[in-house]
Amino acid sequence: MTLPNYAYFKGRIVPYSEAKVGVMTHTLNYGTGVFGGLRAYWNSDEKQLFIFRPHDHYKRFLESASLLLMSFPFSEAQIVQFTVDLLKAEKHHTDCYIRPIAYYADEIIGVRLHDLNPELTIIAIPFGSYVENEEGSHVTISSWRRIDDNMIPARGKISGAYVNSAFIKTDAQRSGFDEAIVLNQDGHIAEGSAENIFLIRKGVVHTPAVTENILEGITRRTVIMLLRDDMGLEVVERPIDRTEIYLSEEAFFCGTGVQVAAITQVDHRPVGTGELGPITRNLRQLYFDVVRGRVPKYREFCTPVY
Ligand code: PMP
Repeated sequence: MTLPNYAYFKGRIVPYSEAKVGVMTHTLNYGTGVFGGLRAYWNSDEKQLFIFRPHDHYKRFLESASLLLMSFPFSEAQIVQFTVDLLKAEKHHTDCYIRPIAYYADEIIGVRLHDLNPELTIIAIPFGSYVENEEGSHVTISSWRRIDDNMIPARGKISGAYVNSAFIKTDAQRSGFDEAIVLNQDGHIAEGSAENIFLIRKGVVHTPAVTENILEGITRRTVIMLLRDDMGLEVVERPIDRTEIYLSEEAFFCGTGVQVAAITQVDHRPVGTGELGPITRNLRQLYFDVVRGRVPKYREFCTPVY
């Protein structure tokens, strides 16, 4: 992966080589950080780079930070501006991934959340697909369980909690699957290793409710809106049993990284026909138009960089 040229670091845009922390940094030792993941999409017709829903991403980012008792003297709008400035400095004219991190910069020994000093850093790199088989992924049900809200807040994007995702992803890929679905402590479907999940049963779209130890995804929110308002489908948020996916007509993951990716097999069982289904296909098309700023009514989600 190519390294960025610049980073937003300690309140300034600096060469990436200057954005360094010491090995004693609290978050490096204890996972006490929060991060975000945004995409910016290049629109070749307009020669414009659009950041998708940055205000919503940074609102969640600051909420995740507040779960770890971090407070910052800037608003989400200011962080959006730092991100625009960074992308301008990078001069990217291609799809990008943006990674903000809020971390405790203190170089001390001691596991705690209080009396520590948070810092913000942001980088952006050119980025294409996150998963290989976006139109037909074969997934497994992970033997790991999703972190529970009473262990580490599942609705926050907390760095340390991603060790859970890393176990899930690596075991799935080493067993030959593209991804895994992870169950929560109640045995209900929660999500993928880093993406939310939807399935379609009898023409109705279902997704785990926000009380099922999921990350409250921005893409999930976008997709619910597109399915309801543009595709005229009913979307139900509720607890979902494992075997419901075996009986569903279609299923897909969604998230900033994965975008909208079809799940066509689960543990060697076909989902529906075992091929990309019509709802997922249409949703993917619509989603890609929305994120590139091609749908006028959703244009406000797309913040131009140039
Ligand atoms: N769940 C988890 C665990 C994630 O890490 C992500 C990626 N941020 C998602 C779901 C999807 O969230 P979003 O649509 O906001 O990227």
